[in-house]
Amino acid sequence: MAQAVQRLKIIQARISEAERKHGGGEGQVTLVAVSKTFSIEDIRPVIAAGARVFGENRVQEAQSKWPALKREFPDIELHLLGPLQSNKAGEAVALFDVIETVDREKIAAAIARESQRLGRIPRLYVQVNIGEEPQKAGIVPGEAVAFVARCRSVHRLAIEGLMCIPPAGADPEPFFRHLADLARASGVNEVSMGMSGDFEIAIFNGASSVRVGSAIFGKRPAKV
Ligand SMILES: *Cc1c(COP(=O)(O)O)cnc(C)c1O
Repeated sequence: MAQAVQRLKIIQARISEAERKHGGGEGQVTLVAVSKTFSIEDIRPVIAAGARVFGENRVQEAQSKWPALKREFPDIELHLLGPLQSNKAGEAVALFDVIETVDREKIAAAIARESQRLGRIPRLYVQVNIGEEPQKAGIVPGEAVAFVARCRSVHRLAIEGLMCIPPAGADPEPFFRHLADLARASGVNEVSMGMSGDFEIAIFNGASSVRVGSAIFGKRPAKV
């Protein structure tokens, strides 16, 4: 996995370059290294090389990897990037530092309840289905601002950001721009957008964090 460390350095350099071009200060954009499907042994050298923010898609898979790694490296920040079922809300609240996929009333209520029970509140982003794709999770763009407001007023949850995955194969730029606009309209500072193939475009359009998996860890098995 020395290769992953080399690739991490390249991605970090490309992020710095994009930050400079965008005119923001260097170090403004957070790299979330997406380690789904990769093992503890694959991940450890990337941590040793300095990465501290990681993303996983599945609660169960994350539970099998991260409690041990977090004991070893207590300053790790773990993000949930995949859909959350309400019966897994307690486990997600206990393990993750940021949940990026709050996307419906029922999940907001479950996170609020479990946060109270466990005395631990992860930072929260709302996932927006920015391309309004039927198969994709997320609140539709037209309801995003109102949903963030309801999370605050009804569920007493401090939403800090928005997250999106634009439609595959389309030019992502208008979608990134739309998400940044919705974040401004919702009064949140964090904008999570951009993956291995398009993170520079996301930075140019206002991303505060980018989620990069395969460009660091290599190709994943086909269906994840
Ligand atoms: C897998 C995944 C990523 C990383 O995708 P790559 O193309 O491998 O960089 C980012 N965000 C989410 C939500 C993902 O599921």
